[in-house]
Amino acid sequence: MTAERQEAEALDAADGLASFRDEFAIDDDGRIYLDGNSLGRLPYATLGRVERVVANEWGRTLIGSWENWIDLPTRVGDLLGTELLGARPGEVVVGDSTTVNIYKLASAALDTVGASNAGLERRVVVTDTANFPTDRYVLEGLCAQRGLELRLFESDPVAGPDGDSLGQALRPGDVALVCLSHVAFKSGAMADMSVLTWLAHEAGALILWDLSHAVGSVPVALTDTGADLAVGCTYKYVNAGPGAPAFSYVRAELQPTLRQPIWGWFGQREQFEMGPRYDPAPGMVQHVVGSPNVLGLVAVEEGARILARAGMGPLREKAIALTEFAIRLHDEWLAPHGFDLATPRDPARRGSHVSLRHPDARTICDLLIQEAGVVPDFRTPDVIRIGLAPLYTRFVDVFDGLSRLRALIT
Ligand SMILES: *Cc1c(COP(=O)(O)O)cnc(C)c1O
Repeated sequence: MTAERQEAEALDAADGLASFRDEFAIDDDGRIYLDGNSLGRLPYATLGRVERVVANEWGRTLIGSWENWIDLPTRVGDLLGTELLGARPGEVVVGDSTTVNIYKLASAALDTVGASNAGLERRVVVTDTANFPTDRYVLEGLCAQRGLELRLFESDPVAGPDGDSLGQALRPGDVALVCLSHVAFKSGAMADMSVLTWLAHEAGALILWDLSHAVGSVPVALTDTGADLAVGCTYKYVNAGPGAPAFSYVRAELQPTLRQPIWGWFGQREQFEMGPRYDPAPGMVQHVVGSPNVLGLVAVEEGARILARAGMGPLREKAIALTEFAIRLHDEWLAPHGFDLATPRDPARRGSHVSLRHPDARTICDLLIQEAGVVPDFRTPDVIRIGLAPLYTRFVDVFDGLSRLRALIT
């Protein structure tokens, strides 16, 4: 056995979070799963909870269960907000997909900025070219519908958006809204939320953060950074399952002036009065819109509870150690064979996945999955992403996964 494999075993033995792995359904038969940043694993607690909700609540109590279900969007939102996002109670709600929530919040923000800056032309929405496709597409669509300009700025492909590149895009002073990802989906770079939020505010714009690769992977401080708006999904590091509902955050101070564009009956002040006209409920309830996805919401609740028990501090520490180990093995084993690190080397500037660039990344990734029993994912044109979800990824998984990769290419 090599010294590094022994080192990985020693790191696992000393890992205070190691027992959390036992809380997940893992039946891999030697397969190494390194894609928790795309779809997190199934917690046993979620399996039991969903079974109980289906059998007892839906199966037996039927419509009478709505009294347990009706406040799930805000209750689960508060759990996510206070435990994982650094928000205050009443600022987060869970429902709809990340894509739909970007539309709702960006649209509401554009109405607000337009209204509160009468006389000043703010006709521009800013994001970076490396932002996640759905973010760029939704913003493109909003701009087309409203006759606004989408200004895409180039961010560094490894380091992600920074103050210099955003500052350039903001300089003309015509920007209504900035939308950025906290952790970049391709490179894993973590943007400085405080600095970039401050820059957007200095330029008179609101900022919408996409936390899809951040929630459950890095501690987020929405209140302290001054962030206005945020969205994120729950099927990655929150382990809530495929298509689980996403969250929306609106800073408390903004809530009275922000009106999201889908006027639905679940967002109505007195929903069961069924009145003639829409009158939005105060706070985050207006963002609920329509019937909440109950099975998805209980899965988010269970996933968030596990993360809260582990604590974002210890999870962050382990994620840094896992990514450091992966980067070291990359440097020793893979860099001499045409691989390049596409993730920041400074652990303070990255999330929980490591991206490796190679001209034949697509073929190598296919072989890894089909022949080597290692499951990372490929992102066009040349990136293999190694997701290291700290709740259940072991150091030996990093070692074994990368040594199988090394065996493929040497
Ligand atoms: C995964 C991800 C999404 C997913 O959006 P859906 O509406 O859930 O498909 C959006 N944005 C980012 C940055 C993501 O990483």
